[in-house]
Amino acid sequence: MVKRYHLGSEAVRTINNENLLPPGLIQRLHNNYPKYSGFFYEDDAIFKDKEHYSGLKGFREIVQTLKEHGIELTHIKDREFFIEVYRFLATRYVLNTIDWKNYESDSNYQLVFPQPGMIHPDEVKKYADAPNEEARKRVVEDYMHKTNPHDGKQKLNKPWYINDEGHLEILEGSQHKYPPVKLILDKTTQTCFSFCTYCFRHAQVRGDEDMFVQREVVQVHEYLKRHKEVSDILITGGDGGYIPYERLLEYVQPLIDDPELRHIRTVRIGSRAINFHPEWLLTDAFKRILELLQKLTENGIQAVWVAHISTPHDVMNPASVAAVRRLKRYGVAVKSQSPIMNHISLFYDENGKVDIDRSAQNWIDLGNVLAMLGIGFHSMYCARPTGEHHYFTAPLADISKIFNKVYRSLASINRPSRYITMTSSAGKTSLMGTAEINGEKVFALKFNEARNMEWMDTTFFAKYDEQENTIEKLVPYGSDKYFYEDELVKIEEQLSKALEKEMKLAADHDQ
Ligand code: SF4
Repeated sequence: MVKRYHLGSEAVRTINNENLLPPGLIQRLHNNYPKYSGFFYEDDAIFKDKEHYSGLKGFREIVQTLKEHGIELTHIKDREFFIEVYRFLATRYVLNTIDWKNYESDSNYQLVFPQPGMIHPDEVKKYADAPNEEARKRVVEDYMHKTNPHDGKQKLNKPWYINDEGHLEILEGSQHKYPPVKLILDKTTQTCFSFCTYCFRHAQVRGDEDMFVQREVVQVHEYLKRHKEVSDILITGGDGGYIPYERLLEYVQPLIDDPELRHIRTVRIGSRAINFHPEWLLTDAFKRILELLQKLTENGIQAVWVAHISTPHDVMNPASVAAVRRLKRYGVAVKSQSPIMNHISLFYDENGKVDIDRSAQNWIDLGNVLAMLGIGFHSMYCARPTGEHHYFTAPLADISKIFNKVYRSLASINRPSRYITMTSSAGKTSLMGTAEINGEKVFALKFNEARNMEWMDTTFFAKYDEQENTIEKLVPYGSDKYFYEDELVKIEEQLSKALEKEMKLAADHDQ
């Protein structure tokens, strides 16, 4: 079973020694969900040599290797333009999870490989027609400027504090938007194991000037000591799974030792290693990280591995199952925040309409597979309006119908823990469903995280819309604005004014 994936001897030894692939589990998963199963592929691995393939060079190597196996990728210019704008990276492992006999409908192929139609054909034409290298670069740069790296006014979320010497300290690689959770985009987690074509953090993964990078660990602890409302830290990126043992130790040991940090109750690591590079989680080196996470749990601090699994195919392969089981053996809770994306976990029919039943079935099957693996189904979230959003999204009205079907079809303990969610500057808004007010159909909305957490207590309404795909752009019902909008403007102004003031004071102080 593992031969097809070309796993290293260390990973195979771990799987055997720690009983990570019990035959009963694998057989039950395969028998119940054969169409997603990559456990018993009969053909040999196509990708055997390199651990990963990166950039245009790596993409061209893959194209060549596929050609040697009788598979001819088309639309090369469309794909190469995308890669020059957004980057490309694929691990050997994820390439071997693709069912190359039916690759066009394979979710991992759709996830990692740029596709025709992602970038508008007029833009691709400019790129294809560029007479020389210099002109081609200009087309790429011009298009890059049109993309929107930081949505939701994320830059307003950079936390800061005044240190004991009276100096301003800005945490350049952190975000603190909702009181209980602080995000850390550490300097060691700025890349990913593979790149997703719908990435909403492409400023991070392509290394834009305005990326978030946390260099000083001590700043994080100092900030946390001043913010007792924070209970969770989330190490993310890029991919939080990249964090080395020594760096993680620097972050978490003080949480155990320092009485001033006792309010931190959860350490989350946001990572796609389970689907993209599960071999890493099966190494001896990773065992040190597991032991450290176990130590956290033994000290009353929950350790959570936040995965992003959108279809059973993401995890129904030997190393992904083994990786999940290994995390759990060391007391790490595994949960999935699952993106709902067209072509991957949401599908249109041949008439161009969202196929509600087929899309819902993917999610119902996923809910059951996650349950069989003991993974918590945290959420289904919609594509953020960044990158090539149009390609991945669908009308909210259809997504709501999919969600309703999923929710009523799963046993209550296997359902996502919150309704369909979309992020904006105000917070994370859930689409609760539809209602009728005075004979008019409306969407019912509710925050599940918000800049002012009291907004979470209020259900509010937007006009029903068959086409709109972004919650923020829905039109308020019964009023010209939502109940929170005036306060949001004030909060945003206060945040930027407070920071400006402190920066000015710091500049005056330094002169
Ligand atoms: S793992 Fe996350 S940050 Fe990395 S490419 Fe995918 S969506 Fe972007």
